[in-house]
Amino acid sequence: MKNLKEYNLEELKQELISLGEKPYRAEQIFNWLYKEKIKNIDDMTNLSLSLREKLKQTYTMCNFEILQKQESSDGTIKYLFDVLDGNAIETVLMQYHHGKTICVSSQIGCKMGCKFCASTGIAFVRNLTAGEIIEQILAVEQDIGEAISNIVFMGIGEPFDNYENVMKAVRIINHPKGLEIGARHISISTSGIVPKIYDFANEELQCTLSISLHATNNEKRSQMMPVNNLYKIEDLITACKDYIAKTNKRISFEYALAKDNNDNLEDAKALVQLLKGMLCHVNLIPINKIENGKFIKSNNENIIKFRDYLNEHGIVATIRRELGSDIDAACGQLRRKNLK
Ligand code: SAH
Repeated sequence: MKNLKEYNLEELKQELISLGEKPYRAEQIFNWLYKEKIKNIDDMTNLSLSLREKLKQTYTMCNFEILQKQESSDGTIKYLFDVLDGNAIETVLMQYHHGKTICVSSQIGCKMGCKFCASTGIAFVRNLTAGEIIEQILAVEQDIGEAISNIVFMGIGEPFDNYENVMKAVRIINHPKGLEIGARHISISTSGIVPKIYDFANEELQCTLSISLHATNNEKRSQMMPVNNLYKIEDLITACKDYIAKTNKRISFEYALAKDNNDNLEDAKALVQLLKGMLCHVNLIPINKIENGKFIKSNNENIIKFRDYLNEHGIVATIRRELGSDIDAACGQLRRKNLK
């Protein structure tokens, strides 16, 4: 069976044509999927009964089942979804004053091996499909009965290691006839897959690009993030500069502060040197300690000092509010789960 949510509008039109149907039927189906947000082909009531039956022979809706739902005292909700092949992934809903944000996963597991991240250490299984990325949003919206305003690709997985599917999902999420979430409300975070940063600069998408930087020299960054052995900081920064020049968009650099590792004044100075003159913003994340992890959170005083130093030296920096840490839903705490 094929998943109806795997197709963009053009592809869905081709599917309908190959079934001997008029292409406008695809627009109707798209409307049911992304505007009416129905769960069953049977509910597509402006399609004839015979067409609905015909569709059901080849297509499914691949609705995720909620296996577990945990709610934090701050309103954050962590979902464990059954992705229908014996695996489960986590998706997080965060509630801010300005709206609801979903942190989506892009892969089942992750290959990047960042030393501070809970997604490390459990084997990588596979990429999520575009339909499975979109379904995380639909399933949460269905559960809370409200629309989502922002999407961040900061759940399990490396979005740029699943580039094609992520780009396809983003375009359906953004499409006026799709979920119609503005590209400016979509952020994609990468650990620094340099060639894909060049590709992304050419996508003509208005999404925010976030770069997980976390350190200012190769020695320290390689200790935290093995991807740095492949793509060095100099090459990463060159790619970021190219992206900014091509798109005129601000990059958001993520920097997780770990006590006595990357959180002292020398590190702040080096960060200013590295990012000086770039159109960017620094997002400081108090690192969340993971089980058996060697990195521990900087103290608040240090975090504030670090932020103030950056701000005083021309780099706009903010401290990310921690949400959902009491239910293991904060940055870096998500894991893939296997049901088998
Ligand atoms: N693979 C992508 C997106 C997933 S992680 C990436 O690396 O960017 C989303 C963000 O959370 C990244 O900036 C990541 O470095 C950060 N992160 C991971 N583990 C963390 C932890 N334990 N504490 C704080 N931030 C963490």
